[in-house]
Amino acid sequence: MKEIGNHFQLELEEIKAQGLYRSLYSFQVNNGKHLTFNGKAYLNFSSNNYLDLADDERLKQGAIQAIQEWGAGGKASRLIHGSTSLHELLESTIAKFKQTEAALLFNSGYHANVGVLSQLAAEGDVYFTDELNHASIIDGLRLSKAKKVIYPHLDLNSLEAQLKKERAENAKGKLIIVTESVFSMDGDVAPLLDLLSLAEKYDTWIYLDEAHAVGVFGKTGQGLVEACGISTERLQRVIQMGTFGKAFGSFGAFIAGSKNLIEWLVNRVRTFIYTTSLPPAVLGASLVALRMMPAEHVRRDRLWHNLRTLEKLLQTQWNNTFKIVSPIVPIRLNHLEKTLRASEFLKSAGFWLTAIRYPTVASGTERLRLTVMSSHTDEELARLVSTLGEC
Ligand SMILES: *Cc1c(COP(=O)(O)O)cnc(C)c1O
Repeated sequence: MKEIGNHFQLELEEIKAQGLYRSLYSFQVNNGKHLTFNGKAYLNFSSNNYLDLADDERLKQGAIQAIQEWGAGGKASRLIHGSTSLHELLESTIAKFKQTEAALLFNSGYHANVGVLSQLAAEGDVYFTDELNHASIIDGLRLSKAKKVIYPHLDLNSLEAQLKKERAENAKGKLIIVTESVFSMDGDVAPLLDLLSLAEKYDTWIYLDEAHAVGVFGKTGQGLVEACGISTERLQRVIQMGTFGKAFGSFGAFIAGSKNLIEWLVNRVRTFIYTTSLPPAVLGASLVALRMMPAEHVRRDRLWHNLRTLEKLLQTQWNNTFKIVSPIVPIRLNHLEKTLRASEFLKSAGFWLTAIRYPTVASGTERLRLTVMSSHTDEELARLVSTLGEC
């Protein structure tokens, strides 16, 4: 047994030799767009806190009030004795926001995807999954006995060919298309209306992960579903997943859909059944964020203003057709060392951007992942772009 330490040391050395070693680091200040690391101040361009709500006074007060009323802990799983009227209120508010019959909370987006996708389809069914879907989706699919068809990123021709084939061979089975609204490392957006047309043509469901779209897309921040103007009728075949940890500035996740779906999830999904319920502080903050969301169009508008501004700056700088369609802006360098060096250069200039590499993205597609917040100013964006130019 004394070999154990040695085993991990050897593997760590291998990870380092490949340039893939990662380690944790912590900020002394992490407040809105401001970061302090080892005594130096940085402007944050790596956060999913797009609307700058995580440090908002109203969310903090929501968390404090919930703690005072309900305590600090979740106390048990929901089915044992962990459900409170605060859970129920948050869920009914989510359903109203998403215009669905019902909603169910999950402890995180990871829990929701792994738990729901592992149960939703079984042997004899088929999942169609975009090759760039999030790790939590991949893990959920791995736990399911359904067949998995991985289609090239956003390639609907290829998807349709596969749908046609599977439908012909499997007239009765469930077919489910799984996609993100906004892809977390590429920032591009799924063609939801076209996907929905395919789903109708081949009679499939869609599992839609709106993690990076809720709060950002749509007039009231409902997500891509709202931005695409999809009717309630057509949404019957869509299972909507969203998270509170990104634009909502809180934590946790939800599935929104029909009453029957939600009841079924309560009875079947292990990541819901066998885990302690979300603590009151989280519920309180999420509830405040959710109630604010329709009215937070000022921040949403400001975020989209920033995205248009950044797009123009990048086009001028690089004289190209650079397009920005979400708050996630990948600057692809497609080279490991170059990406790490660029990230260091930007840090020396006071900008915090993360280098994204394997296994988060395929090797050879390394990139800087730049994320924009509603609180960034035009001047800050201009400085960032000119620094990017220097590097
Ligand atoms: C962040 C993310 C998740 C996981 O959500 P958490 O609440 O952070 O666990 C799931 N899917 C996608 C697309 C994400 O970007």
